[in-house]
Amino acid sequence: MLPPVPPSKGAPARPASEAGRRSLFPDATDAEWSDWRWHQRHAVRNLAQLEKYVLLTPDERAGVQETSELFRIGISPYYLSLIDRDHPFCPIRMQSIPVRAEARIRPGELADPLGEDKTRPEEAIVHKYPDRVLFLALDTCSVYCRHCTRRRITKGGEAELTKEQMRRGLEYIRRHPEVRDVLISGGDPFLLSEERLEELLAPLHEIPHVEMVRIGTRVPVCLPMRVTDSLARLLRRYAPVYVVTHFNHPKEVTPEAREACERLVDHGVPVENQAVLMRQLNSDARIIRELSHALLRIRVRPYYLHQMDVAQGCEHLRTPISKGMEIIQQLRGHTTGLAVPHLAVDLPGGGGKVTLQPDYVLERGEHETVFRNYKGESYVYPEPEQTDCSCPYDSVWQTRRWG
Ligand SMILES: *Cc1c(COP(=O)(O)O)cnc(C)c1O
Ligand code: SF4
Repeated sequence: MLPPVPPSKGAPARPASEAGRRSLFPDATDAEWSDWRWHQRHAVRNLAQLEKYVLLTPDERAGVQETSELFRIGISPYYLSLIDRDHPFCPIRMQSIPVRAEARIRPGELADPLGEDKTRPEEAIVHKYPDRVLFLALDTCSVYCRHCTRRRITKGGEAELTKEQMRRGLEYIRRHPEVRDVLISGGDPFLLSEERLEELLAPLHEIPHVEMVRIGTRVPVCLPMRVTDSLARLLRRYAPVYVVTHFNHPKEVTPEAREACERLVDHGVPVENQAVLMRQLNSDARIIRELSHALLRIRVRPYYLHQMDVAQGCEHLRTPISKGMEIIQQLRGHTTGLAVPHLAVDLPGGGGKVTLQPDYVLERGEHETVFRNYKGESYVYPEPEQTDCSCPYDSVWQTRRWG
């Protein structure tokens, strides 16, 4: 156990979800509300259940009906309690309740937008980059995000990996010494039982060439009560384990979410965030800045801001590339560097991620480079006379390093 730690600055006195909880789930006891399995059992999974809690717009009702064969609905009571029942553009609502546009597949949209199935040597493994792999552990989530680009998996039908598939995934990593980083994803790995999760983390920890593990999860956002002390201790035992979570709007950074993230960090598990840029949901520099600041206050580091993938049924949420660049330009220099995520485009068809940033170079010369700064003023950087950048000590270091 950890010694008690003081709360970090500015914790709100009363959970933001409390009002929503009281009006939507008045009968839930405190013990039930803090039990993640209760939330899983009481998740809203169809139109009839949803209509008990939210007065749907005609577009949403048709959206639920028309996407019923295409992608699941699932909203934890906790996440539902954050919803604005009066506004269809509420970010919680837009991320969890489908609209009709989601049922339309547009030209150019792909079932497998990142071309993962071409680089999937085992059921559990996507190996696209030289030194790291994605380990797909299961197909279930605490909330099914309307912007999910891995919906070919999360729509069901791939189920939790069998012991045999998991064994083969681990065997693949053992046979590939170039793999030094394993990113466990799905679905949401934190929906696995701790025993199951340990069956994955323990053998990975034993593989000498695996230097680090990342776990991609939306649990801190959608089911924060799942982050128990016992889960945090489990992760810490297999350090270095990084948790990569997925907040998209400051409305999601509630006291419960904060407690989940701070519990991880307090146990020595760093937490990073990958947000997805979505039109009319967070496609504004003010919102992304507020999100980044809210995350840093709870010790979560903004990592990527993703341009929406060309997944089927997501076009209505896509922003023009220029919007992301404009947002980064409005952050860089204007606020803490740690609050500026990398703007990433995962290239359709399997090209992998590239990052974009505004161009600050005005002129590139042999003797100097001319930049503009964040205020638009120009500055000259003189080039050095000598340009040999080889590092003579490196051959020594490579053969004689300690440890
Ligand atoms: C995003 C991704 C990774 C990790 O990329 P980083 O840039 O290292 O965060 C690894 N494998 C696949 C297939 C990915 O899509
Ligand atoms: S939590 Fe992740 S994998 Fe699951 S539905 Fe949301 S985006 Fe998709």
